[in-house]
Amino acid sequence: MRVVVLTGAGVSAESGVPTFRDADGLWEGHRVEDVATPEAFEYQPSIVHAFYDARRAALADVEPNPAHQALARLEQLLGDDLLLVTQNIDDLHERGGSQRVLHMHGELQSALCRGCGGHYPWTGELGDYPPCPGCGVAELRPDVVWFGEIPYEMDRILEALTGADLFVSIGTSGMVYPAAGFVHQARLHGARTLELNLAPSEGTTLFHESRQGRAGTLVPAWVDEIAWAMARGWAHDVREK
Ligand SMILES: [Zn+2]
Repeated sequence: MRVVVLTGAGVSAESGVPTFRDADGLWEGHRVEDVATPEAFEYQPSIVHAFYDARRAALADVEPNPAHQALARLEQLLGDDLLLVTQNIDDLHERGGSQRVLHMHGELQSALCRGCGGHYPWTGELGDYPPCPGCGVAELRPDVVWFGEIPYEMDRILEALTGADLFVSIGTSGMVYPAAGFVHQARLHGARTLELNLAPSEGTTLFHESRQGRAGTLVPAWVDEIAWAMARGWAHDVREK
């Protein structure tokens, strides 16, 4: 039983992390194109650094919620048969107990060097232009995937989707590609697909099943179902016939 789980902003939102798409379309008061594009960093690096430095510092004010903890339990149950992919750049999955998280949009607590290409764990600020720990050049940028850039490890994700028995999308809007297309890929190769979201997403009709509610409630209940199915020896009911 191979499972691919994709998590999005809705999971972090229940921990108090501001979501990307607020009702006003702004990201903590900023237009997306002013803080989350390579062009913004080229023209106004200090604004981009200040934005991400503040978000990195704000991680200290949030805690993982029951959805994060349930997914850590799922990892213990499934081991290498689980691929947990997140669009979130916070560290709440890790702090919830998950040990192998694929951050397809990068991580706040990582710096990417434009000089040597290295990725470095980073908890402090980048706005004071510190030297790269690897090459010494002051060319560090937030290690996050901006609009117009290619998400990380897409080959690995697509391979896992191709071989998955079950694909579960949790707390995502279904609007940001390529993640929004994962359900297509999974179904094409015979996986059962499940959506857990506060409200029906843009792509909700693409899923075999869609459940609405808070991730902190739905995810622990779903992981309980998986544990139960495993205890019974993986009934055929979890895979698309
Ligand atoms: Zn470097």
